[in-house]
Amino acid sequence: MSTFHVPQTLAEAVGLLAELDDTMVYGGGTAIQILLKQGILFTDHFVDIGRIPGLGDIVDEGEVIKVGPLVSLRQMETDPRVRSQLPLASQTYAKVANPRVRNTASAGGNLAHGDYRLDPPTALVVLDAMVELTSTSGTREVSVREFFVDFQVTDLRADEMITAIRIPKQGKDSRGTFVKYSSLAANDWPCASVAVLAVPGELTELRLGLGALAPTTRYLALDIDQDMSEQEVVDAALEIADTAIDPIEDVRGSVGYKAHLGRIAVEEGVRSVMKELAHA
Ligand SMILES: Cc1cc2nc3c(=O)[nH]c(=O)nc-3n(C[C@H](O)[C@H](O)[C@H](O)COP(=O)(O)OP(=O)(O)OC[C@H]3O[C@@H](n4cnc5c(N)ncnc54)[C@H](O)[C@@H]3O)c2cc1C
Repeated sequence: MSTFHVPQTLAEAVGLLAELDDTMVYGGGTAIQILLKQGILFTDHFVDIGRIPGLGDIVDEGEVIKVGPLVSLRQMETDPRVRSQLPLASQTYAKVANPRVRNTASAGGNLAHGDYRLDPPTALVVLDAMVELTSTSGTREVSVREFFVDFQVTDLRADEMITAIRIPKQGKDSRGTFVKYSSLAANDWPCASVAVLAVPGELTELRLGLGALAPTTRYLALDIDQDMSEQEVVDAALEIADTAIDPIEDVRGSVGYKAHLGRIAVEEGVRSVMKELAHA
């Protein structure tokens, strides 16, 4: 039987994580509850962070939007600041599961869950977001691009919790889109998901975030110049995507099927942002 701790302050929460063995932070509980019901999650202590002030806030810090770990996925979809300053993030969070899950699941719990199929990290890597990790030793910031270390393994240490996600504002000239394909139901986990962001400059930087297509979220980028045709850009994007696509076979599809869908998602996303750039 697990003990449920309900700290009232951040200091109390990280103190519990430092003192107790076999402890898990409890965010929205959507992943934890499923794993408990499946009988495959055993932990001595849960630290419910729901009473700690400020962890559910979205704050405009100027260059970046700071997202508290308890901000729900639904808030990320609907908050006017996220919709206007981070349209790609808003679009991506809106595609997670169904409204019931999105209303309960938290942005911090989503990252910490570390599943290779998560949708939001695909947008967070192309937006160059940072994740803030806090323990009794202090706070460190890690790029979301570095946070996912291996299959179901993140950079989060046992005595740390996520205390913020900082996402640089998208920039008015950039164009982004999120493409998701699921095989079992429209609001199911993806077989392939791809976030694409084009950031214009002397050369346009084309950034790709791949989800469900490898043991972890993958980030890729390439420079494109004005003279390249849309087809040449698609070919270049597919060439680097092929170096990263390494799917895991499961009930949602074979390796070959997922790799095929992944390439289609990359092509669809890239063509979409290229068309938008051309009409900007
Ligand atoms: C039916 C269903 C369908 C789903 N479909 C999708 C989908 O299509 N796409 C997708 O991306 N996701 C999907 N998910 C996963 C969902 O996004 C995650 O369950 C959710 O985001 C986890 O957030 P949570 O707050 O509920 O985490 P919890 O269940 O509370 O915790 C999950 C993990 O994160 C840790 N944790 C939580 N908060 C913190 C914190 N602040 N600091 C450190 N560690 C923390 C916990 O200890 C635990 O290890 C689905 C889930 C369900 C139940």
